[in-house]
Amino acid sequence: EAVLELRNIARHYREGDARLDILVDINLSIYPGETVALVAPSGAGKSTLLHIAGLLERQDGGETLINGAPTSQMNDNERTKLRRGTVGFIYQFHHLLPEFSALENIALPQMIAGMDRREAETRARQLLDYLRLGPRAAHRPSELSGGEQQRVAIARAVANGPHLLLADEPTGNLDPRTAEHVFATLMTLARHSGLAALIATHNLELAAQMDRRVTLRDGRIEETP
Ligand code: ADP
Ligand code: ADP
Repeated sequence: EAVLELRNIARHYREGDARLDILVDINLSIYPGETVALVAPSGAGKSTLLHIAGLLERQDGGETLINGAPTSQMNDNERTKLRRGTVGFIYQFHHLLPEFSALENIALPQMIAGMDRREAETRARQLLDYLRLGPRAAHRPSELSGGEQQRVAIARAVANGPHLLLADEPTGNLDPRTAEHVFATLMTLARHSGLAALIATHNLELAAQMDRRVTLRDGRIEETP
């Protein structure tokens, strides 16, 4: 069964009198353990697509299914609950909380989701060790390098054990070598955990390392080699 299925998704915005049809008829399924690169020019609708897939934004038409469950008839609370249990997000900028340590940044979302502090911190420490960031556990984001910050953000995104990982230019802010390292971390974690991952990137070398590549053309998904 697909972790994510986008079925005939449509989304438009209005700009004054003009109507911008950003997503016209999006069909895409991603299965457990599959990594998919979303490569398209700026303005093509990648962020919109990721927000719809992650239940942060509603489509105007079509259906978003998570683990086979249709979500369009759910209310906002139901969608938020489903998102917290199944979806992890990674952005171009890490959005780590500046006043908290790396460990706390990873543990906090789990505590918000109801896990007790000890369990959340144990899980966070395991993730940091796995990513060889153990010695950085007590550091605040400002004390970490750009690549370390982004790897902590990746750990945070997977700490809740999501089924679906959505990333919007996760290496867009990093130099090429650091990008390669951060990306390797992302692939290792995704494959190790059997996640379905949809990763928007402009980096064709990184896209080539994923299982599938898709692009957006005139509001539709096209599979590319
Ligand atoms: P990408 O991530 O591929 O750069 P986006 O999904 O951010 O593309 O945006 C696609 C298009 O939709 C852009 O032209 C953008 O200006 C427009 N857009 C995005 N969000 C809104 C919004 N809330 N209101 C109006 N236009 C929007
Ligand atoms: P962008 O990636 O387009 O620069 P942001 O990363 O700031 O945008 O987030 C886009 C939108 O998604 C914002 O409205 C933000 O509040 C919301 N958002 C980001 N992460 C989460 C999350 N984990 N849960 C709920 N809403 C989120």
